[in-house]
Amino acid sequence: MSHVFARNSRRSPPRAVGGEGCYLIDESGKRYLDGSGGAAVSCLGHGDAEVIAAVQDQLSTLAFAHTGFFTSEPAEALADLLVSKAPEGIDKVYLVSGGSEAMEAALKLARQYWVEKGEPQRGRVIARRQSYHGNTLGALSTGGNAWRRRQFAPLLLDVSHIDPCYEYRHRADGESAEAYGARAAQKLEDELLRVGPETVMAFVAEPVVGATSGAVPPAPGYFRRIREICDRYGILLILDEVMCGMGRTGTLFACEQEGIAPDICAVAKGLGAGYQPIGAMLCSAEIHQAIADGSGFFQHGHTYMGHPTAAACGLAVLRAILGRDLLPRVVRQGETLDAALRDRFGQHPHVGDIRGRGLFRGLEIVADRDDKVPFDPSRGTAARIKTAAFEAGLICYPMSGTIDGRQGDHVLLAPPFIISDEQIDELVEKLAQAVEAAVT
Ligand code: PMP
Repeated sequence: MSHVFARNSRRSPPRAVGGEGCYLIDESGKRYLDGSGGAAVSCLGHGDAEVIAAVQDQLSTLAFAHTGFFTSEPAEALADLLVSKAPEGIDKVYLVSGGSEAMEAALKLARQYWVEKGEPQRGRVIARRQSYHGNTLGALSTGGNAWRRRQFAPLLLDVSHIDPCYEYRHRADGESAEAYGARAAQKLEDELLRVGPETVMAFVAEPVVGATSGAVPPAPGYFRRIREICDRYGILLILDEVMCGMGRTGTLFACEQEGIAPDICAVAKGLGAGYQPIGAMLCSAEIHQAIADGSGFFQHGHTYMGHPTAAACGLAVLRAILGRDLLPRVVRQGETLDAALRDRFGQHPHVGDIRGRGLFRGLEIVADRDDKVPFDPSRGTAARIKTAAFEAGLICYPMSGTIDGRQGDHVLLAPPFIISDEQIDELVEKLAQAVEAAVT
């Protein structure tokens, strides 16, 4: 047993030794189709020559310069490119090393903004159940997944969790998607009025929900209504695009499809595409100005923030996504994947829902398709799908999570944007075998 502290402390996973396009290779030579890009990370696949060259160049020019002393050319170029493509109003970029750091920075910036504005009573966050925002304590407090939070409860911030926007389970018979979206968004106003809007600093949500629920898109109009409510009560809207951003849903930012812009936004995963650890917190000019006009110093930071090599990587990845026309490809291949999933699982007795956007797709696994009852958690259905798929040479991202107070199972798919039609067939075929093995 090696001295690596693996998350599963009883069993070490196989050793990965190489990556080629959409495949990872272990030390026995076995090839795995990367159907989830790890966890929605590897958007360009493995071994991308341009990104590797950009990282190598930067390493030999300037690997690191501490942001307490310097800025760097790749950090400036990446921030400029991100802002030029970001939703309206976004003006500044704070580069960090991953998604949790980006969310932690977002929460602390929101809090400092209100302190600088002379409203220090605004300390409460409203977020949603069935959400994941990271594993550091602030981000974990914001996430609404009961089992991840349970043992850390005494360490967590006081966050209100409202219902997610989740058509499959919460939209009533005969209710239109728009009416449901408005009803789901109303939960935010109800909670604001319950706790007192003057005590709330921000509402936090993933535009398309990833790890906790399996690519759940919002109902039409939901986020426009959320934006209106935030504006009416003067609270900040923080969007967590760590998983769904950077082109994963077919637009660079998932919120573009909702026709809204956040005050603060977090991205990560696809920004580094697995070639470097990087994340970013983006914010509006107004928020940045409030700090500049106040104390003049954002009271937060990490040694590796603004890392030049990571920034050069993010810049190369972003240029590849935009310059190789990968966004329309994500839409096209997303439709192909969706059609293949519907063809294979549309009538499956244990697949309750097939959903998602672009190359961000999810299946909800149920014991009974008609009444949507999940499998008994003791069966470990999601874990069984993961194991069976891995044995068959497919990496997918099954998870069990708390759905309406009980444990349920889903599978998340987030393959590289370069996935071919044949590889989509291979993915769906292997996933079907794994689901069959797990539910029978
Ligand atoms: N937010 C979301 C929506 C995520 O999916 C994740 C990672 N799964 C995070 C935050 C945390 O990112 P990281 O693991 O890079 O810290």
